[in-house]
Amino acid sequence: MSKLSIALSFALCTAAAGVHALGHAAVARTATPPAPGAAPGTARAATPPARSDRADPGNHLGRVPILEYHVIGDHEAHWTVEPEHFRRDLQLLYDRGYRPISVAQLIDRRIDLPAGRSPVVFTFDDASPSQFRYIERNGQLEIDPNSAIGIWLDFHAKHPDWQNRATFCVLPAASAGHAFFGNGGIEGQKTAWRYKKLQYLVAQGFELCDHTLWHANLGKYSDAVVQEQIARGALAIDSAVPGYRIRTFALPLGIWPKNRALAHAGAWTDPRSGRTIRYRFDAILEVSGGPARSPYDPAFDPLRLPRVEVYGTALEHTLDALDRPGVRYVVGSEPVTRADASH
Ligand SMILES: [Zn+2]
Repeated sequence: MSKLSIALSFALCTAAAGVHALGHAAVARTATPPAPGAAPGTARAATPPARSDRADPGNHLGRVPILEYHVIGDHEAHWTVEPEHFRRDLQLLYDRGYRPISVAQLIDRRIDLPAGRSPVVFTFDDASPSQFRYIERNGQLEIDPNSAIGIWLDFHAKHPDWQNRATFCVLPAASAGHAFFGNGGIEGQKTAWRYKKLQYLVAQGFELCDHTLWHANLGKYSDAVVQEQIARGALAIDSAVPGYRIRTFALPLGIWPKNRALAHAGAWTDPRSGRTIRYRFDAILEVSGGPARSPYDPAFDPLRLPRVEVYGTALEHTLDALDRPGVRYVVGSEPVTRADASH
């Protein structure tokens, strides 16, 4: 296990921090109908359009890389890439025809990219300040251009077809500033900025994902603690962004609870308020396993999505492997029809 993982595993003492403000009851609404904007998926049920001889079929059964980033820091390590490395990754993916979509879009088959492009999913785990850091200048908050979100937004400004689609798997109350992107002065970040950061991400189009309260190794705990960890993670997100519908859960350390079903759905009753918080996710992220199957592949399992850990030259190797004939998902010039999808 990495230094980071070990540090987070020992973070029990911080468990109570960060979730004092109990938000709406909306956390319990995780089983609501599809989010607005889910319409493109309905194309599957429509009459198939006539195809011209020159239609590009693409490869809708190809693989989709779900990339996993942790720290954007000042030295390369297993869980860290330097800012320049992250900038290079964005350019490399762009130049090789990839465009970002969120986890929610992947599982909903909302791959609304131009023909010939390939989807890539970015996930950022553990909510460190390195992912989203503010710099205060003359009373104004600016996004640190060397934090992940600063680098991303700069790239987006220069490449408008690189949209703000990435999934942030956040912790509200882990140690060393892994608490909604920093608290208590760590890396200059103020506790009061934490909710503002989550709200900003949602407003820009990014997805939030539950990663538990403080990164507990869920394999070590009782069913009750597993549900408390996940529900309190969801509750904290709801406190920051009231009513936000959480679709995705990321397993800390990639470790499943003994009762695996509890990673998908469960409930916890707050002993202070007597209120019960329920959760039910549509996607579960593992830590490794390589590029994911297409959501049109009959073996696609949204409740067990593999990822690609990005460090060193892992991304370059992954993209080379995806370029073997027939491996990579490529958007075709016609919508994927129901008949196609059942192949
Ligand atoms: Zn993590």
